[in-house]
Amino acid sequence: MIDLRQFYINGQWTSPETPKELAVENPSTEEQIGVISLGSGNDVDKAVIAARNAFNHFSLSSKEERIALLEKLLSAYMNRYDEMAQAISQEMGAPIDFATSDQADCGRGHIQTAIDALKDYEFEHKSANATISHEPIGVCGFITPWNWPINQIVCKVAPALATGCTIVLKPSEIAPLSAHVFAKIIDDAGYPAGVFNLVDGDGVGVGSAISSHPDIDMVSFTGSTRAGALISKSAADTVKRVALELGGKSPNIIFDDVDLEAVVSKGVLGCMENTGQSCNAPTRMLVQESVYNDAVSIATRIANGIKVGSSDKPGNHIGPLISQAHFNKVQAMISEAIESGATLSAGGLGKPEGFETGFFTKPTIFSNVCNKMNIAQEEVFGPVLVITPFKDEQEAISLANDSPYGLAAYINTTDDDKASRVAKQMRAGMVRINWASHYYSSPFGGYKQSGNGREWGKYGFDDYLETKATSR
Ligand code: NAD
Repeated sequence: MIDLRQFYINGQWTSPETPKELAVENPSTEEQIGVISLGSGNDVDKAVIAARNAFNHFSLSSKEERIALLEKLLSAYMNRYDEMAQAISQEMGAPIDFATSDQADCGRGHIQTAIDALKDYEFEHKSANATISHEPIGVCGFITPWNWPINQIVCKVAPALATGCTIVLKPSEIAPLSAHVFAKIIDDAGYPAGVFNLVDGDGVGVGSAISSHPDIDMVSFTGSTRAGALISKSAADTVKRVALELGGKSPNIIFDDVDLEAVVSKGVLGCMENTGQSCNAPTRMLVQESVYNDAVSIATRIANGIKVGSSDKPGNHIGPLISQAHFNKVQAMISEAIESGATLSAGGLGKPEGFETGFFTKPTIFSNVCNKMNIAQEEVFGPVLVITPFKDEQEAISLANDSPYGLAAYINTTDDDKASRVAKQMRAGMVRINWASHYYSSPFGGYKQSGNGREWGKYGFDDYLETKATSR
């Protein structure tokens, strides 16, 4: 049993003001593997005082000092890389090979990218008679989810440290193991006490204490659109800056001029990766009418071939969903889609054969889906793909944009001009043409109800900086 009942405050492992425990469950086995404390407003107060005191000197550190500390952080991260991959795999069910190659790599990637961006970053320039300076905003409150747990922590923490801010982090209470490994990494790297603080807890107890806190200068949140709206309201009274990275229902447009087998197969696997629990997953496949039936057959075959399995097993299978509650929600959405008349082409209700224990779900495909159906509009956050036909370029664009979300869009065509025209009209923050990579140095974030911030690389610095004009 992993005992994580202490918080990391002012460089010390600290017991909660009022003891209250929460079990940590392994979603593959449904067994308790650890225990955390659920903190309160008093614990947040202690962390904010530590972060405020640390800000007084850390905000004045030089760029060179912060680069040196980030380099130590990177080397401390690499020393605990396998421990990090294990923690992620156990807490949220990512198969160990995927947790090692993709999930844990995000921490390395964001620290390295922050170092590179910081080296080139100009914090001051002249304009007329003024010196324009970009200064750290202050104490930052971070509230993060469970699905890419270390990605979402480090893509906030690394730019905040690079710009001279101090931090109070509340990781997801469902997946707290990786956050505790990260606190140990900060400690190993030798950051001054109070620069980084971690308080575990739920949204009501700790999350809202952070969002409403008068001495926290900004909040960066990644999670559901529901919680993002609540956080914005709770932060409004103190007029703090709020950066939101929320959900998605991203279109994957497939024109009839592509290698259909390759493109449909990438689309299905891209949707099912991480058991469909990625905000930028291509969950709406839009296929040109002339190749629609072929695309559905290919997608069905690929989905039926996807293996599910326990997170501790090596291999390229997909793991379970995060929790019983989430499993129930995904089942209800599958059931509703069947009732609404979508054609079930693969997967469906119930657990895959032989997986009675663990929150395993069948990779599921719905075809003949009309874009107005709930299953095409709402984020499932599970291994569920919908496939919808379109006639021509104009219809593809309007279907793609017909969503409350605007996080990512995927475009597949061999016609470069068409790809550029369509990309320009996507109301989405990240467009990928023919599955081109999205690097750690590119901005990550969405339009519409997918959020209002941009993270990653130098773009991630903006949220953590205030702009000052000093005229003389
Ligand atoms: P969630 O919103 O339930 O929880 C996220 C975090 O917010 C947790 O730490 C939780 O404790 C906290 N929280 C919940 N209610 C709160 C409140 N009222 N006040 C303050 N804090 C509160 O989301 P989740 O289920 O953990 O994560 C899944 C969601 O995250 C999906 O909708 C997904 O699309 C989204 N997501 C978005 C991105 C992105 O970058 N756009 C990345 C990953 C996940």
